[in-house]
Amino acid sequence: MVDYLIVGAGLYGAVFAQEARKRGKRVLVLEKRDHIAGNIHTEETGGIQVHRYGAHIFHTNDRAVWEYVNRFAEFNRYTNAPVANWRGEIYSLPFNMYTFNRLWNTATPEEAERELARQRAEITHAPRNLEEQAISLVGRDIYEKLIRGYTEKQWGRPCAELPAFIIRRLPVRLTYDNNYFNARFQGIPVDGYTELVRKLLGDTEVILNCDYLRGRDEWNAKTGKVIYTGPVDAYFDYAQGPLAYRSLRFETETLETANFQGNAVVNYTDRETPWTRIIEHKWFTFGLDRQGREIPHTVISREYSMEWTKGCEPYYPVNDEKNNARYEAYRAMARREEKVIFGGRLGEYRYYDMDQVIAAALRASREEIRQ
Ligand code: FAD
Ligand code: UDP
Repeated sequence: MVDYLIVGAGLYGAVFAQEARKRGKRVLVLEKRDHIAGNIHTEETGGIQVHRYGAHIFHTNDRAVWEYVNRFAEFNRYTNAPVANWRGEIYSLPFNMYTFNRLWNTATPEEAERELARQRAEITHAPRNLEEQAISLVGRDIYEKLIRGYTEKQWGRPCAELPAFIIRRLPVRLTYDNNYFNARFQGIPVDGYTELVRKLLGDTEVILNCDYLRGRDEWNAKTGKVIYTGPVDAYFDYAQGPLAYRSLRFETETLETANFQGNAVVNYTDRETPWTRIIEHKWFTFGLDRQGREIPHTVISREYSMEWTKGCEPYYPVNDEKNNARYEAYRAMARREEKVIFGGRLGEYRYYDMDQVIAAALRASREEIRQ
């Protein structure tokens, strides 16, 4: 018998496990994949930490969360500065003075602001969708070259049918600043995210290759409570219909070259290139291995986006109106499950970043274990 059965050895499950163990609780973790760490899983290949499920850069404004993760891992000072490749033309991201200079030859904030204002004026009402939101933020040139193709590949839907909030995450700056995140704290764990999760789990028992939903009655009989971090619709056997997710496919290869693209992340923002981005993993640690030696080869991953179907991994919740409404119906069902806490990106159907997942798991464990 355990106090908590945690379904999923991702970040949410690992933080909850750490907090429950610290308070003397008995915990068992089930994970259906053959490894821990969920989507932040990294694996070492020839001195390079490969982000198997896509580029993960830790960033937060929350000092408590930053201090918390630093207790379990050493972080470097990596700052995310992705570049965009549109039909071979290279632009700086997020949208800033370098981007405006390359597009319009503007040199001062005043010149850039004038051009932005001229193009933004195309939208005269409150934006109703992502296309209108994008044009009202940065104008048509940037929308056409740096947003439209990427977004339509990423989400598999026309921008006019996507919710505006997706694009509000992207900063627009009138400074020469390529730092993608407006965050006080940022970095990459030098030994990889899997090591961070391993430390969080400590000596908690973890059973891999084990799908909770396939034997839930037996598992439920062995625990006081369940912490469920899998997809909420799957838990309820899709009773309200399936929620939409975007899935991803990665093509990873090792190349006998020291420098493939000169940056960790290059977004391909045109519609014709089939992948959304290419990650060159070694640049997350400045091209150096753990001993500080230059790595002579490289590992790259091409990332393709696709609609989720049963059997593939769900990555991004599609938080449009239809799916949010459906999720609300699941949430009502979840509230009636007194012995289960639903958490994490899939359990709460929320576009959570890592720091938000940690904060949510800390909150839930505090509220739960106080009782
Ligand atoms: P998950 O990592 O999905 O963990 C859930 C676990 O539960 C999985 O391991 C799954 O296999 C397991 N599971 C599910 N169902 C069952 C079952 N029935 N039985 C047993 N186990 C089950 N965040 C950032 O802060 N910075 C970034 O740069 C960033 N980049 C991202 C890039 C991509 C491509 C993606 C997809 C996400 C990115 N994120 C980023 C978000 C980050 O990945 C999530 O916030 C975090 O991984 C969520 O952790 P989680 O524990 O909620 O979910
Ligand atoms: N986006 C874009 N062009 C880019 C990068 C991002 O249009 O070069 C848009 C796209 O709609 C994407 C959203 O901004 O879904 C959020 O991007 P971000 O990189 O923050 O999201 P991630 O996929 O890393 O979670």
